[in-house]
This record gives sequence, structure tokens and C-alpha cells, in this order.
Amino acid sequence: MATTMVEDAVPEAKEANPFESMMSRFDRAAKLLDLNSDLYAVMRVPNRELKVYIPVRMDSGRIQVFEGFRVQHNFARGPAKGGIRYAPDVTIEEVRALAAWMTWKCAVVNVPFGGAKGGVICDPWQMSQGELERLTRRYASELIDIIGPEKDVPAPDMNTNEQTMAWIMDTYSMHARHTVTAVVTGKPIDLGGSRGRREATGRGVLFVVNEAMKKFKMTPPSTRVVVQGSGNVGGIGAQLMHEAGYKVIAISDMHGGIYNPAGIDIPAALEHLRATRSFEEYPNAERMSNAELLEIECDVLVPAATENQITSQNAERINCKVLAEGANGPTTAAADAILQRKGIFVIPDILANAGGVTVSYFEWVQDRMGYFWKEDVVNERLQDVMVASFNELVKFAEKHNVDTRTAAYMLAIDRVAYDTRMRGIYA
Ligand code: GLU
Repeated sequence: MATTMVEDAVPEAKEANPFESMMSRFDRAAKLLDLNSDLYAVMRVPNRELKVYIPVRMDSGRIQVFEGFRVQHNFARGPAKGGIRYAPDVTIEEVRALAAWMTWKCAVVNVPFGGAKGGVICDPWQMSQGELERLTRRYASELIDIIGPEKDVPAPDMNTNEQTMAWIMDTYSMHARHTVTAVVTGKPIDLGGSRGRREATGRGVLFVVNEAMKKFKMTPPSTRVVVQGSGNVGGIGAQLMHEAGYKVIAISDMHGGIYNPAGIDIPAALEHLRATRSFEEYPNAERMSNAELLEIECDVLVPAATENQITSQNAERINCKVLAEGANGPTTAAADAILQRKGIFVIPDILANAGGVTVSYFEWVQDRMGYFWKEDVVNERLQDVMVASFNELVKFAEKHNVDTRTAAYMLAIDRVAYDTRMRGIYA
């Protein structure tokens, strides 16, 4: 047979499984930390997984039953925390990986939460607002016993938003017989949400990229940025980077992207996307696929869409100096070694996109105090957390002579392990 095998080839199905990607990094970090085998046994599995079947009366009058999940990965450092996503291709494996990433993410930025994630298999683009509301409320009612300000605090994720959170908060509150704002974060500001929460993930990406620029003695005007995605992370991240003077040369949505080496007028492009629901027909830019966009030569690449975008198949052709992972799990574990060999500086997802959960923490704190901060205060505190976490990570990576992703996992696992050991394992 004439096929050649790459030395570190990983079977495709395994590479595409986000839980496998998460676990292979976890195992590597655990080994380097020489993690005690009892702690390893406890920390490698989630604490609890709930699967629910959600009957929803559709607009047609018929009942349709949807499948949903909530995985609570870890509580060692505080209530579980993490978003809920609605998508046709959600799987329990994906939700389990995302829940674990929340645990490590909260630990990396030292926010006193554990990790969780929820998902419902549905096609939100084909559903009316009424159907989405009924789905959300029934899903929330199924979670009632396991969520709460001290237990598990959901937030928005892919295809869920402030409205979704308002419905969950209301459903939970109706059953509690009083308003419980702190049961979710990412709420509308008028309902106990935090100023700055909507922009927080994108702003967090900007803050860590700014730090990387300082490290490499680069300045925004001469820094070419490519952003994959234009939702809450990619769109807002691109907008904030544009405002900060970076040259954003490409951006995309789920259907494809636009590229102009001279720079794109991001506010105009996002307005075009909002008005026409597409980047197609956007003037003064070349259209390209999402796969092509990732391979553009640039200084900073921000994958801010979904998982498994940078894999063993295309990592060799990634052409950036800094990779700032706005999405959760955009890079497979099999691609890590290739990026490292190419000398790409990776700001791993569990740090780069932690701005969202950091301001979620601020929202939870404000809800519990009943006292709300000005946006400047929120943004300044977010900056403090992101800058300190970035520098701590870089220092840790240098001290232990490991890449930044491994360092992030080591830092996080060490923190969770310490708290687990101090509490003791109830076995
Ligand atoms: N869904 C976001 C994330 O993946 C935010 C989670 C939260 O704020 O709890 O980080």
C-alpha cells in the first residue's frame, strides 16, 4: 500500500471528539504534575450528568420531544458554572468536554466556580420565539433540582442569549415563589444582568492579545488580525480589536468569510451582516471559505466559532504568530504538537475566552449584593483578571518549560487538586 502514515496520526473519529481532546491534555498535565492517583481518578470524570427529554408544544399544535443534557463536571472550588447551547449536532461527549473546560477555565482565572455545561439538540433557526420559550422553560423546569445560585449557574452559549436566560430565571423564580436573579448569568441588564457581560468574552480576548503584543513588542496598527466567527465572541472581539487600532483583515460567519489585506471596516462589515444576514455582496473584499480563512498569513488568528477548526489536517498551514482561541476547543489535541513545532504562540481557550465567565462571576456577585457596578468598573476588574492570568500563565510555562496550553491545564488542575485534597474525598 502506498499510503504514508504521519508519525503522530490520531484516528479521525478520536481527533474530532472534543472529550478526547480535553482528556489527552488533562492526562499530559496530570502526568507532568505527578497527580496523586486518587485525585486523578476523581478529577478525570464529571460529578454528575443529567439527560432530559423535553416535550414542547410546537406552533402546529403537535408535541415534539427534544433531548437535552446538563453535565456538572466539578464543584471543588464552588458552584458549577457554564453555558447552555442549542444546536442540532449537540452530543453528550461535546457537553462533557465543554463542562470540563469550564472547570479548568474558572480555575485558570481563579474564579470561585466549578464547571458545568448544558445542551439541547434542536434547530433554533427553524423554531419560533414561542417554541424557543416553551423549550427553554420546560428544560429549565427539568433542571430545577440541580441548578441554583449555590449549586450550578447556567449562562448563554452558542445560540442562546439574554432572552433565554431571562426565561430560565423566570421559570426558576416561579417555582421558588420569589425572584432569584443569581440562578443564571448573562441576563438582560434590567433583570439583574451585569453591565459589560455581553461584550466580556470579546473584551477578554482583546486584553490577552494586548498582553501578547507587549510580549512580542508588536503594536496594533501593524498587527494583522484574522477572526473566524462573528457572534458574541468573534463579532464583538473583532469590533473591539478594530476600535483598539488593530488591522482586522478577515472575518467570517458560519457560511464563509471576507478578506482584504488592507484591512476591513469592521463596523461596516458587521452592519452589512446584520442587514443582509450574510457577508456575501460585501464590497471591497475577497470572499473565501472558513477553511481558507484560517490559513491566511496574519499576526493574530482568533478562531471564535466552534470546535475542531484547527486539526492535524490543516495545522501545518496555519500561518500566524499568535493564536488566540476565542472559541471553546477550536484546536484538536492532535494539532497541538504541530503548532508548537511551528513556533506559534497559543493563548489557549481556557484563558483566552475566560472573560465571559469572569464577568458572569461579577454578575453573580452583584446579584447577591443587590448592588450594581458601573461598566467602567466591570471592564477594569475584567482587565485586572485577564492580565494577571495571562502573565501568571506565561511565567508558569517558562518555569516548567512547557507550552502555554499544557501550562494552563497544569495550573488549573493543580488548583482544583489542591482544593479537592484540602476538602478531602468523601469516599
Ligand atoms: N458560555 C461561556 C463560556 O463558554 C460563558 C459561561 C459562563 O459565563 O458561565 O465560557
